[in-house]
Amino acid sequence: MMWTMPNEPRRIARAVTLLVTATCAPLAAARDAGTPPARPDVLQRASLRIPDLIEDLRYAADDNFLHRAVYPKGSVCWLHRDTLDRLERAAKALRAKGYRLLVYDCYRPRSVQWEMWKILPRPGYVADPRKGSNHNRGTAVDLTLADENGRAVEMPTPFDTFSPAAHHGYAKASKAAIAHREILREAMEAAGFRKNRMEWWHYDVPGATRYPILDAPLLP
Ligand SMILES: [Zn+2]
Repeated sequence: MMWTMPNEPRRIARAVTLLVTATCAPLAAARDAGTPPARPDVLQRASLRIPDLIEDLRYAADDNFLHRAVYPKGSVCWLHRDTLDRLERAAKALRAKGYRLLVYDCYRPRSVQWEMWKILPRPGYVADPRKGSNHNRGTAVDLTLADENGRAVEMPTPFDTFSPAAHHGYAKASKAAIAHREILREAMEAAGFRKNRMEWWHYDVPGATRYPILDAPLLP
């Protein structure tokens, strides 16, 4: 078994690295002291990548289906960099057609997922925090189209309307609303997102569950 020997130094180096990482554990210490956890580098601020993005984070105010603010005031849109790579492509394609992106929800901390679940423990409305939502991974985004002045365009329903009218394929909405829903869908799918059949505003990175659930603050 002499041929395994060249791997040995590498294995030892890895063990040392793991030991150092475990010993330093700054995250655990910070949490004990009540300090918010450090933000992982993979979570990036969306407006730095998409300067004309409009942020209307509905869970930072009471203008949402929970009728209660569950994000701190002043929260901003954070997304996984793999999500932002796609969103940047979609924003570019839509800009050429005279539209801007308006986000309603981006990365959502798991602690908030628990809070939402306590208010409304109904799967289909709120994801079970034990499983986590793709929003907790930074790999889902809720959004609509806005015109060049930043005004949201007409869509088949308002954000977070849980009814068949919010489904893709719903044909009884106005012609303008259907056209806007399709323009958004085409741009998002072309950029590499997957639509949610029941929510015209929600888009995921394909295979999103392979990304870990992240614990990070929402304030910049
Ligand atoms: Zn969503």
